[in-house]
Amino acid sequence: MEFNKCSRCGNFFVSNDEVCPKCKTKDTLEYETFKNYVEKNGINTDLNALSNETGISTKNLNRFLNYTDYNGSISESQNIKL
Ligand SMILES: [Zn+2]
Repeated sequence: MEFNKCSRCGNFFVSNDEVCPKCKTKDTLEYETFKNYVEKNGINTDLNALSNETGISTKNLNRFLNYTDYNGSISESQNIKL
């Protein structure tokens, strides 16, 4: 266990996650929204447009993109879970 800085709120917490337990629920929800959007519409490389469509901040979208390692292919990332 080590101290991590939450990617969402900036608080320090003890976990191996990217976000603190307080933000985890919302983060998981937004990640699902992101995934659903991408599955329906394909990946949108215009993060501002993507942010407007999903209501997720560009900062978090960037992080989600790193989680899933999207390279324009959805099928490759379908087995990846949070
Ligand atoms: Zn947090």
